[in-house]
Amino acid sequence: MSHGNPMITLTRGRFGTPASRVMEEVRDAGPVARDAIAGATGLSVPTINRTVTALVRSGLLRERPDAAPVGVNGRPGVPVEVDPTRFATLGFHLGRGVASVAVGDLRGRVICHRTIAQPVDQDPDLHELGRLAAQLLGTQPGRAPLVAGLVAPWADLGLDRDATRDRLHEVVGLDVVAADHVAAMAATEFLHRRHGTGGVTLYIYARNTVGLAIAVDRGSHTEVSRTGSLTHFPTGSDEPCTCGRTGCLAATYSDLGVARRAVATGVVGPGADIDEVVAAAREGSDAAHDLLLDRARILGRVAAIVRDMSAPHRVVLVGQAFTAYEPALKVAVEGFEAQTALGSVDVSFTRFGAGIQATTACTVAIGPVYDDPLGLVPSAPAHPPRTSPESSATKGKIA
Ligand SMILES: [Zn+2]
Repeated sequence: MSHGNPMITLTRGRFGTPASRVMEEVRDAGPVARDAIAGATGLSVPTINRTVTALVRSGLLRERPDAAPVGVNGRPGVPVEVDPTRFATLGFHLGRGVASVAVGDLRGRVICHRTIAQPVDQDPDLHELGRLAAQLLGTQPGRAPLVAGLVAPWADLGLDRDATRDRLHEVVGLDVVAADHVAAMAATEFLHRRHGTGGVTLYIYARNTVGLAIAVDRGSHTEVSRTGSLTHFPTGSDEPCTCGRTGCLAATYSDLGVARRAVATGVVGPGADIDEVVAAAREGSDAAHDLLLDRARILGRVAAIVRDMSAPHRVVLVGQAFTAYEPALKVAVEGFEAQTALGSVDVSFTRFGAGIQATTACTVAIGPVYDDPLGLVPSAPAHPPRTSPESSATKGKIA
């Protein structure tokens, strides 16, 4: 069973080609003028001019003369930005009993997405997901799909990452980048909320999957280089786990585990899910409140243990198990501070809205666009005939 290398490159820095470095700078700072890109990347002005011209001709960047400062004349002063209109990525997220399909733009944003039920404990129906992707693309005329991203908690689902990726490639006819769910979550958090600080960031994700990812900014480039599962982290509870032992973290404190216990102890009615537990706590149920605070304290302690092992510069707590119930945030930090042996460190929360699964898949999908932009979309000739993106770039079966 292959779950593969977890690495996701977040920024390529000086290891990137000029086109890759320009794309990254424009993604992060755009709309931005050529001279500012030169200043930020350290590349020469002639290199920037040549590269920006090629990227604009390819349709990956577009000029924004309307965003130029008043009084600026000529090309060097015209800002450019990543063109969010001509190309698309496809994002696929596989969860337990559920799957999401999304169409994204080249900045990693989701344009539209759908979530559908999938058979539990069976292989995902990739043909159905492919048909859904084609339908979604059909609502976006004029956009050519370039690449697909595929994200799942592979080990928890018992799926082989590389084999599933290859099957999806057969279905959609595009290159498919597959990544671990928690690594993709960390990459999404990083790209959509730049920290602006270097060093090591530890992400702890908790919902129904519990895991960690570590992003390392090496000065020259940034990558999610390590991930780990906390599914079977021992908590000492007597909750049985699918692994045959008792007390594992996810079995006890995942959304499913907490909801199951709330139902079993009569805190909420039969069949209730975590949303109903949170609602009960908000409406004044002490038992529901205590269950959620108990979970927050344990998750904070686990985060502190991982922090002490990895010595990051900051810790980001991610996922609804941390953020769904506001009073639990403070308790998670208290649990963290009571456990850690290393003194104080910056701990923050990221609250993702609905559709985060689709966003992670679309974030992973833009990787190849930034790795080798002009390899993926060759620059069109300088003079007509100017080919449309549909005819020049669509290699896939989905168009
Ligand atoms: Zn277990």
